[in-house]
Amino acid sequence: MQVAAVIVAGTAAEAEQQARVALRRGADLVEVRFDALRHPQAQDLKKLASALGPRAIATLRSPSQGGFHPVAGGARHALLREACHLPFRYVDVELTTDAGHLEEYAKTAKSRAKDLVVSHHFDRPAEADEVAEILDACLSAGTVGKVAVPTVSVESAVDLVDLARERKSRRFVLLGLGEPGMLTRALAADAGQEFQYAVGNRSTAPGQLALATALRLRAKDAFVLGLLGHPIGHSVSPQIHEAALQALRLPGAYLPFDLPEDYLEPFLDAAERLRARGFNVTIPHKEAVADLMDELDGDAEALEAVNTVVVKEGWTKGHNTDVSGFRMSLRSLGLRVGDRTALVVGAGGAAKAVVHVLLREGAEVQVANRTPERAEALADTFDDEVSVLSLEEVARKGPWDLLVNATPVGTRGMEAALPVPESSLDRTRFVYDLVYNPTETPLLEAAKRRGLRHTNGLEMLLQQAAASFELWTGKAAPFPAMKSAAQEALR
Ligand code: NAP
Repeated sequence: MQVAAVIVAGTAAEAEQQARVALRRGADLVEVRFDALRHPQAQDLKKLASALGPRAIATLRSPSQGGFHPVAGGARHALLREACHLPFRYVDVELTTDAGHLEEYAKTAKSRAKDLVVSHHFDRPAEADEVAEILDACLSAGTVGKVAVPTVSVESAVDLVDLARERKSRRFVLLGLGEPGMLTRALAADAGQEFQYAVGNRSTAPGQLALATALRLRAKDAFVLGLLGHPIGHSVSPQIHEAALQALRLPGAYLPFDLPEDYLEPFLDAAERLRARGFNVTIPHKEAVADLMDELDGDAEALEAVNTVVVKEGWTKGHNTDVSGFRMSLRSLGLRVGDRTALVVGAGGAAKAVVHVLLREGAEVQVANRTPERAEALADTFDDEVSVLSLEEVARKGPWDLLVNATPVGTRGMEAALPVPESSLDRTRFVYDLVYNPTETPLLEAAKRRGLRHTNGLEMLLQQAAASFELWTGKAAPFPAMKSAAQEALR
């Protein structure tokens, strides 16, 4: 499969310059979007055909198919006829807009030994049957058929991947637009697609892959990783893992999978077929995924929650790298907690992982939560003693060597509040906020004002990400690259 960098520029000279940059960066082809030129002329086509021709797709996308400026009727026909005569590697024409001229274009393209891409862009989501019908119509009118369709669920993206596999013996491009549709792009080589579009100088379609990512995915053994959750828009895991894959030049993509709970099981069943090596799992699926695993590691079993799935030869194993992530972060921060007193605020999945580690390290652990019954329930899941405090008690009890915030209070977009009464910090030595966005939360600002040692959740996030990455790839995680990607994403 070839990678075509899409070039969008206002003038032919700029398009040529941007195309050369993309080719130097490793693109096999460039798609020159002539519809991005304000008034595309025959001389623009000639100039770019002679500069880039054998490595270029000439496209004049019409506005109804997602194009920029309109070139209609006779002017469009004249330009496309000219393009078919010029030495472009491919010319893209449209199934509906150019219906009256397809035969002529096909004949000219054939006589000039170039490929005619007949394309169709749906402006709405469509069922797989309808997509298949249109793709077949495109395939019968040109040498390459191309269909793009807005994809609003992971389920419909999986249907498109299956549909693409059925067309494997043909020359085609079939892509799902939007975040869920990224799966069709990641598996384009595996499905035998003619080429894959990638961002040249700027993104032209939702979910379009970066050029470097698309180039890595040309490999035969390309694999998929991703994050299962709902919603998942706020996560920086895609940036962290993309940086790791890129640093090690591994042929993988890390994709966001926003899934409803009832699609978890079918999705995990499809994992092998989707070339998935594994996933991270986030709210609200950590417990549900644990129930669906073939096997759990010790930490996942103890917590009945999974944040990392490893898929190997159809076998799924659930891990909990929040546990190892928190443990490793204590080490790298030089925080010794054995025989010390710790207060954990929150009683959700993160709090449980933190309490699990602190108990194992020999700390004396207390828990406080907005809903006290949940704190009681959390304490009951451990064999070791965990005491439960009300938030009023937190205001007067202590002292604590360590206070851990395991609630989302302080997260960007939420009200700037503290998860504990501020006076409790007077009896605290070290403040650990699991929240990492913003990097300085109101709780950490309060700790700083008091001169307390403190940290945000970035180190834990990176440690759990590194542990997951190593489970999936068997390679040492490139920690510095992951860290700078996270810092960049959180800036
Ligand atoms: P969760 O299972 O949904 O639990 C959330 C906890 O926070 C519950 O105890 C909940 O109390 C409490 N809470 C929620 N909103 C609150 C509010 N407005 N005021 C007071 N308490 C509130 O979530 P989780 O998975 O444990 O995650 C908790 C936080 O840790 C999140 O911000 C997450 O981003 C962060 N985290 C960070 C890392 C990292 O690597 N740094 C890893 C995992 C999690 P109720 O029981 O009363 O609802």
